[in-house]
Amino acid sequence: MCHLYGNLLNTYGDVGNLMAFEYELKKLGIQTERKIVSIGNDFKESDYDFVFFGGGQDYEQSIVKNDLIKKKDEIVKYIENNGLFLAICGGYQLLGKYYNDAYGNKIDGLSIFDHYTVNQDSKNRFTGQIKIQVESFDEICLGFENHGGRTFLSDKQNAFGKVLEGNGNNGEDNSEGFIYKNTIGTYLHGPILARNENLCKKIIEKIFKENNYDVRIKTKN
Ligand code: GLN
Repeated sequence: MCHLYGNLLNTYGDVGNLMAFEYELKKLGIQTERKIVSIGNDFKESDYDFVFFGGGQDYEQSIVKNDLIKKKDEIVKYIENNGLFLAICGGYQLLGKYYNDAYGNKIDGLSIFDHYTVNQDSKNRFTGQIKIQVESFDEICLGFENHGGRTFLSDKQNAFGKVLEGNGNNGEDNSEGFIYKNTIGTYLHGPILARNENLCKKIIEKIFKENNYDVRIKTKN
């Protein structure tokens, strides 16, 4: 497992997503290893089965963006090869075109996806509990959001969830995050995989199925 910029972008215990993953796999007798891949480190797509990119402050995002671009080609390959990639909040924003931060700076994203993120008037932030319906995994998921950014998807992108309570991408169109192949971008801290155990199990099951491992994991109703 790769924790992208885990020493810079790791707000609200986002590392708990990796821990939740490790915990579920351990119960199946599968050992995992995780590595922080940060500024100056090579990212080789074939080295990983799970890439996690967490959220963070505007300042850290502005530092990360300069290094991130050097990893773009391998990240694109990883995503296109159906690799499991989870990006939360600041990480999610950086996969898109740009993020206009709270100080009026434009932080360029990787432009792998078409979404873009603008800020809010009067430095407002979307904070609080959030509840979303995730159709692709047939789950209602809970989380916590805290973002200044308002993200808009392009017509070609599919939202990860539909907002039932809270703000999600932008507080306007009820969309939350995006999903493409096995890449998920979302604003849900929580950490989402720890707080939504069924989602974590269903993601693992999907990846196993695609790789021809025959494992069934019991989910709770
Ligand atoms: N700094 C970004 C914002 O405020 C991302 C926040 C986060 O990752 N929690 O929108």
